[in-house]
Amino acid sequence: MAISLESKEKVLAATDGSIVRGKRLAAQLRELGAHGVLVQMAESGQLLKLRCEMPTCYHPDSRGFFERTGQPMPDWAPNMDHYPRMKMFKGTREPANARLSHVRCNRADVGWRSSIRAMMEKGMSLQQIADSLNRKHIEPRRNETAWTADSVRWAYVS
Ligand SMILES: [Zn+2]
Repeated sequence: MAISLESKEKVLAATDGSIVRGKRLAAQLRELGAHGVLVQMAESGQLLKLRCEMPTCYHPDSRGFFERTGQPMPDWAPNMDHYPRMKMFKGTREPANARLSHVRCNRADVGWRSSIRAMMEKGMSLQQIADSLNRKHIEPRRNETAWTADSVRWAYVS
């Protein structure tokens, strides 16, 4: 007996661990009030863990702690970060250009990344950029008290 393409896909989905895990994650994301690209990625097995994927996570205890979305958006609510191409570089909102982040971690990352870029374009040295970020009270990376030439470079390329 021939098996339809649709039921073949169902059988594959039931045995594909990433889809099984992703569907569980999609349900968690929906409970947290997330929708759109992140849920879509989870549904198709492209996102497996409830974990902040930003290079710097500011949550004091866990990259895996999330709270429900709301207005205003809580710091630890799930958020879609445009990655690898940032929104300011015309990055689109789609599964191939997305990672899961906390609202706060995404906001901080976009903040210092765009500041650093603008200053690099002006030809400023890494130390001058670090001094400027510190003067403007731009929050440094987690567990650091101030920006340094090294942390500016590392933050920018990570
Ligand atoms: Zn985070």
